Amino acid sequence: PQQLLLYCRPGFENDLSAEIAAKAALAGWHGYPQTEANGGHVRFVVLGEEPANALHRDVPLDSLVFARQSLVALDPLVDLSRDDRLSPIVKQVLDSGWSFESVWQETPDTNDAKALSGLIKALGRPLEAALKKRGALRRKAGGRRLHLLWTTGDSVQLGMSFPGNRSEHPGGIPRLRFPREAPSRSTLKLEEAWHVFVPRVAWPERLSEGMQAADLGAAPGGWTYQLVRKGMYVYAIDNGPMDATLMATGQVDHLREDGFIWEPPNRLDWLVCDIVDKPIRVVEMIERWLTRRWCREAVFNLKLPMKQRWQEVERCLTHLDQRLHETRVPAEIRCRHLYHDREEVTVHVRLLA
Ligand code: SAM
Repeated sequence: PQQLLLYCRPGFENDLSAEIAAKAALAGWHGYPQTEANGGHVRFVVLGEEPANALHRDVPLDSLVFARQSLVALDPLVDLSRDDRLSPIVKQVLDSGWSFESVWQETPDTNDAKALSGLIKALGRPLEAALKKRGALRRKAGGRRLHLLWTTGDSVQLGMSFPGNRSEHPGGIPRLRFPREAPSRSTLKLEEAWHVFVPRVAWPERLSEGMQAADLGAAPGGWTYQLVRKGMYVYAIDNGPMDATLMATGQVDHLREDGFIWEPPNRLDWLVCDIVDKPIRVVEMIERWLTRRWCREAVFNLKLPMKQRWQEVERCLTHLDQRLHETRVPAEIRCRHLYHDREEVTVHVRLLA
C-alpha cells in the first residue's frame, strides 16, 4: 500500500504517530500509522487511490514536530536472503518506476540498527552499479533521492525524498561539533535551532553583531555562548552562576531575577528561553513578550515529561497561535523535536510585521 515513512527519535513513535494521523486527517486524508516501540520510525499507510506523494506535499516535513525525515515509501521488504539482498531491492525499484540521482542507505537511530553499518557499506557499490545499469540511478533526476532504511540485516524499506521537502542530513540528524569553550552541552540545542529555523542566507541579517538578546534560564551559559559568539549583547537571567569566561567578554549582563517576571529595558532582537517549567506557563510568558513586541524572534523549549507529548505540544501551539491572532500580531510559528532535544521540543517564532 501507499505510505509515508517518517524517522524520529526512538521512544517518540507514539507522538509522531498521533501527530501524523491528526495532520493527515486535517488535510482530508484517510490512513493509519504503524510503529514498533523504540523503532525510531513511523509508517503512515494511506487508504484510497490518491498517491502518497500528494500527502507528502500536503503535510511537508517542515510542518511536522516529531519527524526528522519524511519519505514516500514502498512496502517493506522482509526476509531478504543473505546470499542475494540486492535482486529484490532492484526489482522493487524497477517495478515502481522510480528514478533518482542519489542513493542513501540509512538505519533508525537505535544501537541495534547502527550495528548494521558494515553490511550497508558492503552493499553500497554493487547496489549503485545495479541501479545505474538498469537506468534507475541517473544523473538528471531532479535531485530525487532513494533511501534504504535497514531495520535488520534482512529487512529494509525503500523510500524517496524530494528537494525542498526533506532533511539533507543522513538519518535526518545534523552533525554539529561541540564547541570546546561552550559552558554546557545544551549549547547545541540553540545552534541546531538556528540551522533548522533560520535559512543560512538570512543569518547575516537576523543573527548579527550588535543585536540585543535576552536568555531566560541562562546558567551556566550554553545558549548565551551562542548569542555572544554572534556578536550580540545578552541579558542573562538566572539565579544560578554564569560561566566566568563568558562573563569576561563584557557582552553579558547577568541578572539574578525571575525569568517569568523580568521585563527588558528596551525592545530586543532575540528572546531565548530554556527554563524547565510547565509548557503552558512558558508559552504564556512568551506570549506576553511577543504581543508587546519586546523581541522580534524567539526560540524556546517546551519540556515534555508527560506521556502524551504530541497532545501537550498541540495544546501549547494552538494557545500561542490564537493569542497572536487575537492581538493581531502576525507571526510565523515553527516547532521541531530537534536531534539535540531529549524530552522537549523547540519552538521558533518570528514576528512578520
Ligand atoms: N540554556 C542553558 C545552557 O545552555 O547552559 C541551560 C539552562 S538550564 C536547562 C535551566 C535554567 O533555568 C537553570 O539554570 C535554572 O536556574 C533556570 N531557571 C529556572 N527557573 C527560572 C526562573 N523562574 N527564572 C530564571 N531562571 C530560571
